Amino acid sequence: MGIRESYNFENLVNESERLVLEQMEVQLEMDDSKDICKCQDCVLDMTALALNTLKPHYRVSLIGTVYAQATLENLYSDEVKSAVSDAIKKIADNPSHD
Ligand SMILES: [Zn+2]
Repeated sequence: MGIRESYNFENLVNESERLVLEQMEVQLEMDDSKDICKCQDCVLDMTALALNTLKPHYRVSLIGTVYAQATLENLYSDEVKSAVSDAIKKIADNPSHD
């Protein structure tokens, strides 16, 4: 019997992923980003790169975690911002396609 069949892991979330996606959306919509390729490949590469440079913050997403989320967001937002902007720059300069 596999662990995935025995337990439901849907509530296990990496907060870093949520924060990176939010920040990615903000930064890709900025004027500075208007000439950057935003195809599926590039945006996924940017996201993967940003997430690999950050520490994961896994938690079990249940009620009562709003406070923890807000705290993490405050403590972590500068790190997330610079990880995302570095990743956008790197992939934009070096896309995996022509
Ligand atoms: Zn692209």
